[in-house]
Amino acid sequence: AKAGVVNSFKFARRDVNSRAYRRLVIEQELRQALERKEFEVFYQPQVALHDGAMVGAEALVRWRHPQRGLVGPTDFIDIAEEVGLLDAIGGFVIDDVCRQCGIWADIGLFPKIAINVSVSQCQQPDFAANVLKAIEKAGVPPGMLEIEITETVAMLDPRATARELSPLRAAGVRLAIDDFGTGYSNLASLTRLQFDILKIDRSFVSECVRDGSARVVVATILTMAHNLGFEVVAEGVESAAQREFLVSQKCEYGQGYLFGKPMPAADFEAQFAEHRRA
Ligand code: C2E
Ligand code: CA
Ligand code: CA
Ligand code: CA
Repeated sequence: AKAGVVNSFKFARRDVNSRAYRRLVIEQELRQALERKEFEVFYQPQVALHDGAMVGAEALVRWRHPQRGLVGPTDFIDIAEEVGLLDAIGGFVIDDVCRQCGIWADIGLFPKIAINVSVSQCQQPDFAANVLKAIEKAGVPPGMLEIEITETVAMLDPRATARELSPLRAAGVRLAIDDFGTGYSNLASLTRLQFDILKIDRSFVSECVRDGSARVVVATILTMAHNLGFEVVAEGVESAAQREFLVSQKCEYGQGYLFGKPMPAADFEAQFAEHRRA
């Protein structure tokens, strides 16, 4: 899988054959990108499904490369992780989201913004303390922020995950389980996490109209999640039919191309100001 990732990396030069050398080139490019501030946070709207009001967004990192244009995370995150730069990129995302949320709070806008956090980031012993420092420095009401951790990562050691993240939750930051349904969780362990939100993976949502078993999976996840006290976000909602099904199953929130693609902060701000609940 790792080899596939490197092979699919579009920046690799044809004349460079050595894998080690290629990694070095990419590593250098990523370091430069950090120094030159080429990373940028895009925001994808999340809406309340029953009335369509915009409630917030997921923050998704982009690389605005001077020659190659806008590069998505699937084209650099795995490599950044391999060469040890994902923490720095993740740190930038946290700081930049906090900076932006501080500005929004000052003008009376309070979207809930969800930030993706990688394994190595959330395993740093001072992770929670550092996030709280960034929040304080930027003057962000903690309730504006959510931290997303993938199901697989959260479930490696549910007790440890819950313990490490509990200072954030105590301060009012909400915690979300990302890509739910892909990690074969033991349902009982879910309760140990003490998370607030569960995000149903796009693979189930995209099939829930066409495919009977995907529909049962989504309905079952929703029933279970609600019984355990989670709010649910459906990812990858692309059609009105999917939205209707999710509403019928009492899914609270949706995210997907039906409501908006990831966009620059200024565009999200304009849409949020117009479409938030009055
Ligand atoms: P994710 O956390 O599951 O984020 C959702 C991905 O689905 C995003 O891809 C988003 O653009 C895409 N998406 C949203 N709605 C739809 C839809 O209706 N249809 C389809 N086909 N796709 C949709 P993106 O932005 O390319 O991000 C890919 C992954 O990169 C994310 O998956 C997340 O795991 C990771 N990522 C993004 N930003 C960060 C970050 O700041 N830190 C870390 N650690 N990971 C990040
Ligand atoms: Ca996510
Ligand atoms: Ca402020
Ligand atoms: Ca996801």
